Amino acid sequence: MADKKQVAIIGAGTAGLAAAYDLIRQGHDVVIYEAAPEVGGLAAGFRAPHWNWSLEKFYHHWFASDRHILDLIDELGWRDQVIFPRPYTVIYWQGRFYPFDSITSTIPAFLLRHFPLSDVIRYGLVGIYLRFLARWQPLERVTAAEWTQRWFGKRVYELQLRPLLVGKFGEENLRVVNMAWLWARLRSRTTRLGTFVGGFQAFLDKLADWLRDRRVTIRLNTAVTEIRSHTADGGSRQLRVETAADAALYDAVISTSSPGLMARLAPDLPESYAASLKALKSMGAIALILALDRPLTRYYWHNLPKEAGFPFLALVEHTNFIPARHYGGDHLIYCGDYLDPGHEYFTLSKEALLERFLPALPRFNPAFERSWVRDSWLWKTPYAQPIPPVNHSRHIPPIKTPVPGLYFASMSQVYPWDRGTNFAVEIGRKAARLAMDEWREA
Ligand SMILES: Cc1cc2nc3c(=O)[nH]c(=O)nc-3n(C[C@H](O)[C@H](O)[C@H](O)COP(=O)(O)OP(=O)(O)OC[C@H]3O[C@@H](n4cnc5c(N)ncnc54)[C@H](O)[C@@H]3O)c2cc1C
Repeated sequence: MADKKQVAIIGAGTAGLAAAYDLIRQGHDVVIYEAAPEVGGLAAGFRAPHWNWSLEKFYHHWFASDRHILDLIDELGWRDQVIFPRPYTVIYWQGRFYPFDSITSTIPAFLLRHFPLSDVIRYGLVGIYLRFLARWQPLERVTAAEWTQRWFGKRVYELQLRPLLVGKFGEENLRVVNMAWLWARLRSRTTRLGTFVGGFQAFLDKLADWLRDRRVTIRLNTAVTEIRSHTADGGSRQLRVETAADAALYDAVISTSSPGLMARLAPDLPESYAASLKALKSMGAIALILALDRPLTRYYWHNLPKEAGFPFLALVEHTNFIPARHYGGDHLIYCGDYLDPGHEYFTLSKEALLERFLPALPRFNPAFERSWVRDSWLWKTPYAQPIPPVNHSRHIPPIKTPVPGLYFASMSQVYPWDRGTNFAVEIGRKAARLAMDEWREA
């Protein structure tokens, strides 16, 4: 082992905790700074007093293909606490909901009923081609909108791909988002969806406790305000991490904040690196959660094309994935949307959003009444979904920044994969490995 190093990690989200896991096992000293009162970042959950399980602030599940996070859970010996139920996904089309979670369910139940056979055959063949295509690089040269119109055909594009792209990125980004992103997204999907017993927060708390037991310090409610290079009297170089309360010196810093924040936190970053951080664009997200006294639908995930006039993009009935008995009998519904961070929804109160959203619920169940709503919560984040433009791979800032000892690992760099806790584990561990490799070589 190289000498013991002092490492600061900024952010106790999935990436920060995964980086700490590898560093502490190699005997380094780790301090994690977390601005929020709990660990978990975007995957964090909350718990009403009468619930046994926590609920993610934003809907979360794992795919069976999420090998980085499932491998980490295996290493920790916690695999018996991962469950993979088979919830159902549907899409709204012309007043009805149709199965929409795999080619084998979508084709017979939906496409064959409404589309010419030639479209359906094309859909199946192109879907299989994408599933087995290994090299994504040529796909990033073209937008997902152009590629899918050309190969799936106009009708299937209008029905399936355009709503997905507009829903995630907005109409204005149809001319931006590249096809490699869509390839990666289609490739990693599975029909079985997973979670940890107790919810994602239970997993992240357990991981945080595992780290604390090995003397990792996790400083909650402690936002880092600045990271600066520091040259000691003897000439050795360190990094100074400052908070509102204090400052400390470290041999390395791994930051897992958003790119925009990273550019502000580290003024020593050269202009070219800071510019590449600022150039990364992303969508925000809102989730209005309702606790109902009875089920609303039979399905987990409802895809809602914007053209259908719903005031949100997806209705996710969490308790059709995880039973309501874990939540004191509450039936939990997310009304979620990805939006430009300047969208008016980010300025509206929970009550104002309830007024906009509740009138849409009878479209899912005509019997719905407001009296079914027992409670509600609103969560918002300006950094939820990175936007990958054409030729994105050429512009992603490297994890190892030009400032010695400073590493940056965020959702915006896991491309071509869509962001997710699985890839947060991968990039967090990669950042830790890069730092440790450098010490070994020094
Ligand atoms: C709507 C939505 C749905 C999603 N669905 C899924 C899903 O189904 N499955 C899935 O696996 N993933 C999903 N994700 C993605 C997943 O949540 C993220 O990819 C993952 O949590 C990112 O982890 P991270 O550690 O990179 O970043 P984050 O979780 O953002 O963690 C960064 C942490 O850094 C802290 N921080 C930032 N600045 C500072 C500072 N200056 N000082 C101290 N602390 C700081 C933040 O408070 C935060 O806790 C979803 C995300 C959203 C928004």
